Amino acid sequence: MSSQKLLQKVKYLPEEEQKSIQKAIVFIKKAHFNQKRLSGESYIIHPIAVAEILAELKLDSLSIIAGLLHDVLEDTPITFKEIEKEFGKEVANLVKGVSKLSEIKYRGQERSVENFRRMFLAVAEDFRVILIKFADRLHNMRTIKWLPQEKQKRIALETMEIFAPLANRLGMGRLKGEFEDLAFPILYPNEYNWIRNEVNKRYGERENYLRKLKPIIEKELRTEKINFIEINFRAKHLWSLYQKLQRYDMDWDKIYDLVALRIIVKTISDCYGALGVIHKLWHPLPGRIKDYIALPKPNGYQSLHTTVFAKDGVITEFQIRTEEMHRVAENGIASHWLYDEFGKNREKTFSLPKKGMFSWINQLLEWQKKLSSNTSKEFLGTLKFDFFNNRIFVFTPKGDVINLPQDATPIDFAYQIHSEIGDHCIGAKVNGKLTALSSQLKNGDIIEIITAKNKKPSADWLKFVKTYKAKDKIKQALKIK
Ligand code: MN
Repeated sequence: MSSQKLLQKVKYLPEEEQKSIQKAIVFIKKAHFNQKRLSGESYIIHPIAVAEILAELKLDSLSIIAGLLHDVLEDTPITFKEIEKEFGKEVANLVKGVSKLSEIKYRGQERSVENFRRMFLAVAEDFRVILIKFADRLHNMRTIKWLPQEKQKRIALETMEIFAPLANRLGMGRLKGEFEDLAFPILYPNEYNWIRNEVNKRYGERENYLRKLKPIIEKELRTEKINFIEINFRAKHLWSLYQKLQRYDMDWDKIYDLVALRIIVKTISDCYGALGVIHKLWHPLPGRIKDYIALPKPNGYQSLHTTVFAKDGVITEFQIRTEEMHRVAENGIASHWLYDEFGKNREKTFSLPKKGMFSWINQLLEWQKKLSSNTSKEFLGTLKFDFFNNRIFVFTPKGDVINLPQDATPIDFAYQIHSEIGDHCIGAKVNGKLTALSSQLKNGDIIEIITAKNKKPSADWLKFVKTYKAKDKIKQALKIK
C-alpha cells in the first residue's frame, strides 16, 4: 500500500507521533473515499505524496498530518471543527491556512500582488503553511501531464512567477530549481528541448573530465590536512542554465559551471583551506572568487565559489562549503526547524523571527498593509525589484553591512539607514569621494551620507531611487500619495 513508504520516512519522529500519522492516513482514506485523480489513481496518492515531501524535509509531525489533511476542507464535507476534534487546533489551523492560499486563483500579473501578499502573510504567521503549500504544488507539478493543456500553462506560469521566486527568497534552493525545471518544458517547450539536447551532448564529457580532477584534489587536500567530507558534482538546473546562456549571448564557452565541483568540508577554516589548495593547484580566473561565507546572500546562502584554469586549461567552477551550509543552501528557512540528528526540534516556535535573515518579510507586510488599496503595477514592479532581484552589499563608514537591490543609489542607502537621514540628505561620499545622489552603488562600496537639518527630499529623487522604502518615504515627505 502506498502509505508504507511514508511510514518508513517518518521514522525520525517519536513513536507516538508516528501513530498519529497512521491515524491521519486512516482518516483521509475515509474522507477521500472513491475520489480519483485525473490519472485514474485513487485520490489519496496525492496527500500521501505531499506528506512524504514534508517528511523528506524532516518537519514536525503536525506538519505531516496537516499535509495529509490539506485537501479535506476543500474537497470533502469534513469541517474545521472535526479536524480540530480529531487532531487538535494547531493541525486544523494549518489545514485552514493551506486552504485559504488555494482560494485565490492566479490570473497573471495583476493578481500576483495579492498572491504574494497572502503567501507572505502565511509565512509570517506560521511558515509551515507555506511549506505544505510548496509540497502540494511540487506534487501537482510532478504529475501535471494529466491536466488539460490550458490548465497546465496557468499552473506552470504561477509556479514560475510566484512559487519559485518565493522558494528562492526563503533560501530553498533545491525546491526552487525543481519548480523551475518542471515549469520550463510547459512554458517554453522548444527552448527546453533544445537545451536538454545540448546539455546531453556536453554533459558526459564534462563529467568524465571532473572524474579525473577528483583524485588530484583529494590527494592535495589530504596532504594539506583539510578535513573534507566529500567531493561531488552538481549539474546546473536547466532553467537557470537557460537564463545564464541568455545573459551570455547563448555562448556555451562562457558557461563554466554546467557541472561544478562541490567540496563539502568540516569547518569554516577548512573551507578557506580548501580554497587555498585549489588555488595552489590551478590559477583562478580574476574576479570570479566569491566569498558568500563572509557575506552571505540575503536568503542565507553561504559558500566559497571560485573558477580556475584546471588541468589542461579547462575552466572549472568550484563550490566549497560545510555540511551545515549545504543544508541551508538546499532547504533554507526549513533547515532552521528541521529535526536534528538526535531527533529533536531545533526551534520550538514556527512563527517568523522578527529579527535577522527573514525580517524583510515582516517589513514587506508592513509596507503592504499601508498600501492595501493600491495594488498598482508600480507597486508590483518595485516589490519584484526589491525582493527578487540580485542584491548588493554595501557598508556604512562604521562597517555595518547594508543589503540593497542591484543598481540602488545613495538615496536608497540613506533611507535604508533611517528615514530622517534620507529626508535630510544633501550629498554622499562613496569610497571617500563625493558622488552624485543618483549614482549606482556597487558591491562593497563604503557610503557616507551628508545631511543638513533644513534639507527636504526632492521630487527628482523619485526618478532614480530603486527601493520601495525610499519611494514611499519621499512621497510621504512631499505629501504626494
Ligand atoms: Mn492538494
